[in-house]
Amino acid sequence: MKNRKQWKTRLKKGFNNIKKVLSGKMQITNRLKFHALIGSIASVHVFLLVVFFIFRIMPLFYFNIFSVLTYTFCFWLMWGEREHYLAIYFITYMEVLLHSFAASICLGWQFGFAQYIIAIIPVGFYICYTLEIKRHKFTIATISAIFAAGAFLACKFISFFGEPVVILDNIVLELALYVFNSFCAFAFLIIFSLVFIFEIRLSSNQLKHQNAILDKLASTDPLTGLYNRRSMDIFLSQAVETDSNFALIMCDIDDFKKVNDTYGHDFGDVVLKGVAGITTDQVKGQGYVCRWGGEEILILLNNASEESSFRVAENIRRNVANRVFDLNEKWIHCSLTLGIALHNNNEAVEDTITRADYNLYCGKRNGKNAVVL
Ligand code: GH3
Ligand code: MG
Ligand code: MG
Repeated sequence: MKNRKQWKTRLKKGFNNIKKVLSGKMQITNRLKFHALIGSIASVHVFLLVVFFIFRIMPLFYFNIFSVLTYTFCFWLMWGEREHYLAIYFITYMEVLLHSFAASICLGWQFGFAQYIIAIIPVGFYICYTLEIKRHKFTIATISAIFAAGAFLACKFISFFGEPVVILDNIVLELALYVFNSFCAFAFLIIFSLVFIFEIRLSSNQLKHQNAILDKLASTDPLTGLYNRRSMDIFLSQAVETDSNFALIMCDIDDFKKVNDTYGHDFGDVVLKGVAGITTDQVKGQGYVCRWGGEEILILLNNASEESSFRVAENIRRNVANRVFDLNEKWIHCSLTLGIALHNNNEAVEDTITRADYNLYCGKRNGKNAVVL
């Protein structure tokens, strides 16, 4: 009962992993790749070993015993923590070439064993490329491929000019082995091509994800999560081009130096983050909020009028004034002064910022905790 449950969860996990690989969310590890490769080639050899024994094709029967032992050795090279993938790559490549060569010479070209030589070329490139080899990846794969092409032609020439070592008078077996060999060679090609595509998809997904992270890092302020000045410059130029009715609100926390001096810089950061959160909530969907300087926040309101921008600014001011900021069982009230300026179509955006700044200055001079339009 317990075993059945374990198997069920294992199967479920296996299916989930396959789904993740197919949707480009999970990496196919070298371990999995090599186990699949060696496992499938070894299975083909076990099958051929039985066939060659039944039909008394003894040279190839012995060769297949050698092949199965070779792949058992490859499994040993991956046992536990071992990861001798490059060695396995060479051993597998050589074995496939040698076996295809030996089988073609022994039985004749028409049995289709040479097809494996063609199939191993793209598989070899793929495996070699995805291995963590620092240098000569392409050289190794290219030399292996040229070697394979030579082996393929040599098979053809030898079987063309010479007689097979074992003469089989069995047309059904000949056809059956040809079909089997074609099937396996094509299966290798199709499966590894698919896996290659899934890996490309995974890399492109990872790249997109990393780009998104880098984009966020480059465009936001790490402390508050607000847009940084660089991003705001872009939004401002966009607004100048596309929006004839935008407003700017410059905000500055009142007596912030005192907060830092009295309660410490960490407490100051808590206040800054809290104010940033309130501002973002109030502006949501209506424009952009940026950390303009130390504790100065600049808001760009799209499609704004005097009433709407005043309403937004007043909501921010009231919410900040009503909020209790706390850290380590200390709590304080803070306030914010905000200066609003509506952009005039014939003025530079820098002038709008200066007017918002001036209104903020007026608010500070007249007692702070105020919105000035
Ligand atoms: P006012 O009411 O006139 O604005 O007075 P103020 O004390 O707030 O003066 P000012 O706006 O010039 O204060 C800026 C202070 O903000 C100085 C600096 O120590 C503090 N500050 C700037 N950036 C940060 C920050 O990232 N974290 C913290 N904790 N403090 C910061
Ligand atoms: Mg201040
Ligand atoms: Mg300031």
